[in-house]
This record gives sequence, C-alpha cells and structure tokens, in this order.
Amino acid sequence: MKCPYCNEEMEQGYLQAMRRVAWVKQIHKVSLLPKQGEVLLENNTFGDAVFSAHICKKCKRVLLDYSDKDIEEG
Ligand SMILES: [Zn+2]
Repeated sequence: MKCPYCNEEMEQGYLQAMRRVAWVKQIHKVSLLPKQGEVLLENNTFGDAVFSAHICKKCKRVLLDYSDKDIEEG
C-alpha cells in the first residue's frame, strides 16, 4: 500500500499497545463508554491490543486498520 501523504510504499505490520485504545476528539481519561463521536478501538482489560497497520518511515506515520475489530462508537 502506498502512503497517502508521500506516495512511498508502506510496510505492513502491527501496532501493539496495552489494554484500552480509543480515538478521541479531546484528551481525557478513557472511560468505559466512548463519548459522542469517539471510537473505542480496543477494550482488552487483561492483555495486549493489536492492530493491523501500515507504516511510512519517511513521514513517520502509521495507518491503522480497525476493520477486524468489534467497535464501540459513542
Ligand atoms: Zn509517507
């Protein structure tokens, strides 16, 4: 896949984090339920969060794919 910013070929990999991962409009403590317009991308209280992701090392950007996730949207 090509980087949407610089058109360089991106590397396929994974983004790994711990527990809860959310997309938010403003920074706040991530609570159990996402607020209006927010997306709780991962809610794994006891383990790692893993996302399929492409990286562009030139732009230093990661494109996250959450299509395989069971998503909670606020
Ligand atoms: Zn790029």
